[in-house]
Amino acid sequence: TTQPHLTFNDGRAIPQVGLGVWQTPNDVAVTAVRTALEAGYRHVDTAAIYENETGVGEGIRAAGLPRDDLFVTTKVWNADQGFDATLKAADASLKRLGLDHVDLYLIHWPAPRKGLFVDTWRALVRLREEGRARSIGVSNFEVEHLDRIIAETGVTPAINQIELHPRFQQKALRAAHAERGIVTQSWSPLGQGTLLADPAIAAIAAKHGRTPAQVIIRWHIDSGLVVIPKSVTPSRIVENFDVFGFKLDEADLAAIAALDAQDGRIGPNPMTAA
Ligand code: NAD
Repeated sequence: TTQPHLTFNDGRAIPQVGLGVWQTPNDVAVTAVRTALEAGYRHVDTAAIYENETGVGEGIRAAGLPRDDLFVTTKVWNADQGFDATLKAADASLKRLGLDHVDLYLIHWPAPRKGLFVDTWRALVRLREEGRARSIGVSNFEVEHLDRIIAETGVTPAINQIELHPRFQQKALRAAHAERGIVTQSWSPLGQGTLLADPAIAAIAAKHGRTPAQVIIRWHIDSGLVVIPKSVTPSRIVENFDVFGFKLDEADLAAIAALDAQDGRIGPNPMTAA
């Protein structure tokens, strides 16, 4: 395939576009994952808390692709933080997925009030040493959480998966990632669909003969981000991957840059969540 990849600080590579499967029940996930893999996706983003790892695994097997061609991510949930609990949770996730390793295992939230994310990170380092996770990273970490795990273990996460879309562009955190050699991954990249009716996005879409979703996904790609749009609708799954045949120009990028907002966050604040 000719789809773009980004390289991690551990030498491995991640396909820049993946399928997100939050709020997708097992039976729906089977079809969505299979449809995506048949459309050319090679990257799927799930989590234990999504309760659909079984369906994701089934969809992967239904597509019949070689395991080494796929990039599968899952995440340890907040309730399973801590060294031993995380090792157990990873085992359970792999069992549900029907895989002997994931390509990326993430700490879902820092949950700083639990005080367990450093121990949890040590477990992820162990999982990588054992080959059960090829790469390890975090999600929803702020700079102070990143620096804490790096200082205490000497291991820098490959990636930080954070809320990021044109209305919440996360410029400061992205700069901190760049300084530390951490790839940035965008969750809710379409603003959970709320950005698709934005007039500035619509104007760019009309200009290129593309859809608003394609313009926003292209913006993530052109911004050097990993992007995991979610859809369970076959035509949209295909549409969201058909983004490699055009590029945004400087005027488009400037118009999207202007959509950034201080209060653009949709999801929970990582400092107080969990
Ligand atoms: P999203 O920004 O990907 O938006 C998805 C919604 O947009 C869909 O439900 C649909 O309503 C609409 N949509 C998608 N494609 C469309 C198209 N082509 N045309 C019209 N409408 C379209 O939202 P998301 O699901 O919140 O985020 C994507 C993924 O990010 C999740 O599925 C999950 O894998 C991940 N995520 C991670 C975290 C985290 O804490 N790490 C949090 C939220 C989401």
